[in-house]
This record gives sequence, C-alpha cells and structure tokens, in this order.
Amino acid sequence: MVDLKGQYIKIKPEIDTAVINCIESAQFIKGDQVAIFEKELAGFLEVKHVVGCGNGTDALQIALMALGLQPGDEIIVPAFTYVATAEAIALLRLVPVMVDVEPGTFNISPAEIEKAITRKTKAIVPVHLYGQSADMHAIMEIAKQHNLFVIEDNAQALGAECKFPDGKRQKTGTIGHIGCNSFFPTKNLGCFGDGGAITTNNSELAEKCRMIGAHGQKKKYHHSVIGCNSRLDTIQAAVLNVKLNYFNEHLKARQKAAEIYYNLLSGIDWIELPEKSGNALHTFNQFTLKIKSGNRNKLQAFLKENGIPTIIYYPLPLYKQEAFKKYWEPPKGLENTEELCGSVLSIPMHTELTENVQNYIAKTILKFK
Ligand SMILES: *Cc1c(COP(=O)(O)O)cnc(C)c1O
Repeated sequence: MVDLKGQYIKIKPEIDTAVINCIESAQFIKGDQVAIFEKELAGFLEVKHVVGCGNGTDALQIALMALGLQPGDEIIVPAFTYVATAEAIALLRLVPVMVDVEPGTFNISPAEIEKAITRKTKAIVPVHLYGQSADMHAIMEIAKQHNLFVIEDNAQALGAECKFPDGKRQKTGTIGHIGCNSFFPTKNLGCFGDGGAITTNNSELAEKCRMIGAHGQKKKYHHSVIGCNSRLDTIQAAVLNVKLNYFNEHLKARQKAAEIYYNLLSGIDWIELPEKSGNALHTFNQFTLKIKSGNRNKLQAFLKENGIPTIIYYPLPLYKQEAFKKYWEPPKGLENTEELCGSVLSIPMHTELTENVQNYIAKTILKFK
C-alpha cells in the first residue's frame, strides 16, 4: 500500500544526520526541533499557530477540551470515517451525532449536517477524507448561522486546499476554528512513529491547546486546568523538519500517481473513480475505488492472489461499531455510508509508485470478471 522505505532511502543522509544531532543534543523533550517545526509548518499552511502534540487522536481530544464543551453537548461527525474522529468525542462524554456523506466525494454532506442540528449541537467535525477537502464553504456558513464551532479532522489531508466561491484558496485545517493533524507514517506528511499537531488562527485557543497538552500548565508545576500529556517528540520533529522540505514534491507525486490511475481505470462500467470536487485540491492520501455490483470482496481476494495489497477504509459505519452503538444510533441506516462501506476499495497510493507498477495494478484489475 505504501513504500516508506523507498521514500526514506532517497533522503537518508539528511534524515540520519537530523536524528543523530537530536540524540547527541540529548534534548529529547521540547527540543528546538519542535519549535522550528511548528514555525515552519505554520508558514507552509499560512496559519498563525501550530501546536505539536502526540498524535492526531490527541489533537482532536485537545481541540474539544479547549472549546469548553460540556457533557451531553452534541457534535456532528460523518458516519463514514476513521474511529478516532468520534472516539475523542465519546471519551469526553460528548455525543457524536453521525450524519451521512456525499456518495462521490465521500465527505460529510452539508445538507445532512443542517438536518441534524438541535439545540444541543455545539460543533461540527468535518473530516477531509482520503485527502480531499469537505465542502468548507457550506460548512462554515452553517456554523456561522447556528453559532457552532468547526474542528477540522485534517489527519488525511495535510496540504489540501479548499477553493471558495470568491476564488480564495485556503489550506484545509486552517479554515475552521481548529484543525487536527496527524503525522502517522502513512499520512501525507509522515514521521517515524506517532506525531500530531493542532492548527488555529485563534491565539487564545492556541494557548489553551498548548496548556492542555502540557498537563494544563502554563507555568511549570502550576496547573490551571485539567489537561493531558501529549507532546510532539523531538526526534519526530527533526524527521518532520527534513521531510517538510520535500512535502510539495511528495504531494505532486501523489497527484501524478492519481492522474495515472484516472487514465488507466476510466470508462469501466463496474468501477466508480473518486470524484474530485471542483473546489478543492486533492492530496490523494488514498485512491479509493467504488466497486459496483457487490464484487468488492471478490476483487480484493483476486488482487491479493496477484500480489496487490488493498485496504477497505472503512468496512463499518461508525454507528455499527460495537463501541459506539450505545452512544448513538441513527433512526435508520444512512444510505450513502452503508453503500460505501460495502463498495470501497483503496488501492496502493504513495510517493514512490511507478508507472510500471500502476500499469500492472490496472491490468490486473481489468482481468477480473
Ligand atoms: C489517522 C487518523 C486520525 C488519527 O491520527 P493518529 O495520529 O493515528 O492518532 C484521525 N482521523 C482520521 C480521519 C485519520 O485518518
């Protein structure tokens, strides 16, 4: 699915030096590399504040904590996403209200968000799934109208852009009140372990997030709020500082690989290719096909026999996960979410894909049936 080793080999001397420097400096916690990375990433994203943290799941939890939400408050999330999106919500005794997604872009449907709003609704957590921005123009309008917070789950879409009707472009994760990012190795900007960051243009929220991630303290051993321990590791920051210099190149490699897939796999009546929404720059963290006519699992087995790995992101709607049934269940199944869970198949997508490999993958897919 990914070739992390191949990507590393190309920049090995730089990475190795950065890691060794870090070890030799013995600044393992809160070293200079963390502050440098926060500043560099803020520059890249054109956002005022970046606050490093332990991982993307922590970023979501810290963001929700910073907004001062109360138990029982309802938070709207897409039903078709990774569990982390709703997990932080449930952990804080907030209520994850799951709504349906658009069938083509896989992203949360603004019309469904509007239908789900009640007097208890306090926030929306759109997920920029597979690397493409949700409809942030519509979502921000709804949020403004109903006075709701917007926390962007940008774990899969760092580097993606949303284009607004006035032509303005903005990077995902910097549009809502807070953005949550992950540097898990397979994400767009991956480190060599776990890592995450919060992004925001609101200085007060940035300070709160920083405080919460540091045991609720601003001054050492003086704790003003209940927080947690969630830091971006210094060695991971050193790796990220090197990789950030190649980030645009890596994003372009993903886009090029996606174009090749679009060319090779278009015009097949039983495959639906991912829809690129006109208002976004897609970063293709995943390239996800929809396999029609109920043959998805058979195709997956066939590809496996031919040495091609694939993954089903995600086989179950959130509300059908055992852990979540007791928190929230929609009155009836959400149509698009259920259809996607039965039909999506993500095929290999990474920065080191070659045209040869993609040709083989496409040829093998076409041999099925
Ligand atoms: C990966 C991911 C997360 C969590 O990130 P971690 O760094 O693994 O904790 C959250 N939301 C989505 C949509 C993700 O894909």
